[in-house]
Amino acid sequence: MILLTNLGGRSVNGRMRRHVLDNEFRVCIDCGYSLRNLAEEHRCPECGVQYDASELERAWRAWFSLDPASAEA
Ligand SMILES: [Zn+2]
Repeated sequence: MILLTNLGGRSVNGRMRRHVLDNEFRVCIDCGYSLRNLAEEHRCPECGVQYDASELERAWRAWFSLDPASAEA
């Protein structure tokens, strides 16, 4: 969680939030790389971390304190 621990300012958070929402939560949790056009479960081509699209959405929603909505199974 390198990226997340480095996020401090509100403006950075807002910019990241927009980026994540624009990519429908398909954004690498570690480096912020857009994974929107990639497989549901794969590795981030940028940093190599494994991801799962549903896990990403849950993690980002929690990070941004968004309504869990359909993320809760
Ligand atoms: Zn990454």
